[in-house]
Amino acid sequence: MAKRDYYEVLGVSKSASADEIKKAYRKLAIKYHPDKNPDDHTAEEKFKEAAEAYEVLSNQEKKDKYDRFGHDGLRGGGGFSGQGMSMDDIFEHFGDIFGGHNPFESFFGGGSGSSGRRSRRGSNLRIKLKLTLEEIANGVEKKIKVNRLVHADGVTFKSCGTCGGSGQVRKVVNTMLGQMVSASTCHTCNGTGQIIDKKPAGVDNTGLTQKEEVISINIPAGVAEGMQLSMSGKGNFGPGGGAPGDLLILVEEKEDEQLKREGNNVIYDLYVNFVDAALGSSVEVPTIDGKVKIKVEPGTQSGKILRLRGKGIKDINGYGKGDQLIHVNVWTPKNLTKEEKDILEKLRESPNFQPDPSQGERSFFERMKEFF
Ligand SMILES: [Zn+2]
Repeated sequence: MAKRDYYEVLGVSKSASADEIKKAYRKLAIKYHPDKNPDDHTAEEKFKEAAEAYEVLSNQEKKDKYDRFGHDGLRGGGGFSGQGMSMDDIFEHFGDIFGGHNPFESFFGGGSGSSGRRSRRGSNLRIKLKLTLEEIANGVEKKIKVNRLVHADGVTFKSCGTCGGSGQVRKVVNTMLGQMVSASTCHTCNGTGQIIDKKPAGVDNTGLTQKEEVISINIPAGVAEGMQLSMSGKGNFGPGGGAPGDLLILVEEKEDEQLKREGNNVIYDLYVNFVDAALGSSVEVPTIDGKVKIKVEPGTQSGKILRLRGKGIKDINGYGKGDQLIHVNVWTPKNLTKEEKDILEKLRESPNFQPDPSQGERSFFERMKEFF
């Protein structure tokens, strides 16, 4: 593929000054920076193309060759090709050009891990989100208000005069071993290399302002208490044009009055009177999706567990759905009238009323093993 003209790539004229070339390049670097355009191949190519153009046009010797002979003039001269280089290579390469200062960090932070420069990426925002069992079971879209730091309109930056835009102040120190150069973070710009030129009233010295935003969060089904969800780029913006941090959402479960969660299953304690348990009946039980009628078979023992298949919580990893387990408790009356007592007295000695553990529910331990 034929290479585009370097001046055209940066959008400057052939007579552009070094400063104009630098400004044009910075603009493109911000626009196409991989942090701002994750997984965008076109942006990555444009970013590399701009880096290559700037690498040549910012170097007087290479620029002269290019001006005279075009792309051919740079061939075989140990030139650098943005194509086929990794982002890290580019950062490293530019580190040299900027005298050890990675220009991207002054905009975005992160990157090649050199010391001395402050990260410009904004901080993460953390919120807690209380969810009902129903919201957890099926997933939910929540709209929440967050106060985040955003770039204020009408703020312009200029290169920091103290450090010359490098973010670092170098000092020559006399030591026993001779003169040493020490570099420290510039306090005027806090290591960012830029300071505010103009700003509207009410905007702080970082160029950021608090803004209430409504953010829509898709909560997947099956989340659990203590889980943390993350929305990339929805946190605070960084100072001086910095990219935003993430929004971190800590999940909390609102306790349900009737249904208890156990993994992806939902547990419900059902109480039936012993006449219903003996004769059988139809009862209403709550589920996550509303009330359903279930049948209590004649002769149901206390401790029986009924299973409503698929009435539980969707698995967060997509492995199906849990069940609702209904724990049957046969209610023994505590207060009886004289008349009621007389009826029951007649039944006391009946052979059918004598307990037979072999016909009852399995032991509590055995039942628990099956369900959990
Ligand atoms: Zn500075």
